[in-house]
Amino acid sequence: MIVIGVTGGIGSGKSTICTLFEKKQVPVFYADLEARKISETTALNEIVDIFGNEILSSPTSVNRKKLAEIVFHDRLKLENLNSIIHPKVFESFHRWKDELPPQTKYALVEAALMFESGMFALMHYVLAVMTNEQTRITRTISRDHADEQVVKARMENQLSTEELLELSDFQINNNGSLNDLTAKVNFFSILFSTLTAPPESL
Ligand code: ATP
Repeated sequence: MIVIGVTGGIGSGKSTICTLFEKKQVPVFYADLEARKISETTALNEIVDIFGNEILSSPTSVNRKKLAEIVFHDRLKLENLNSIIHPKVFESFHRWKDELPPQTKYALVEAALMFESGMFALMHYVLAVMTNEQTRITRTISRDHADEQVVKARMENQLSTEELLELSDFQINNNGSLNDLTAKVNFFSILFSTLTAPPESL
């Protein structure tokens, strides 16, 4: 089975694309959602050890906004947090993959931090979602009712378009309509079902 990572900047359309693949019965592992679940369960005690009880909004849930704000301004704490969460996400991904039906031709993994987290090393190929900055800002603001400055600040911390182009194997442009995107997903679903593992893969 071939595993293809789906990545891209904030609001580029990763989840939208993955949902379109799911409609075609393609299994998708949502790494960011899994990271969130892990931070509320198996990593909760370790998070409290680093950030103190003040990080909790209830005995069993992390104040995600506060956590995001702290690590945004403190690189060391961000690295600490990632070193707890990322290995657990990888383990969870391996368990998920092992349980897929044996006839599965390919599966997708959606991760915003595909390259930064090292998760790309577990993928056969990576598809990058390429969407203009202004379109991403507009779509994210309308999705999250977020402040433009907050969206821009998050973008500055993410890989540039050039870096994504350089690192990824395939790119999908999502500047157009949802109909355009659906047609592109149809194309990629045919392409992906013909892929074999690249020679250098483990
Ligand atoms: P994040 O990294 O922030 O989780 P994402 O890359 O998963 O974002 P989505 O949530 O899929 O991005 O898309 C961002 C918003 O843009 C959503 O509200 C989605 O419905 C909308 N959207 C995505 N693609 C299109 C499109 N082609 N036309 C119109 N709206 C779109």
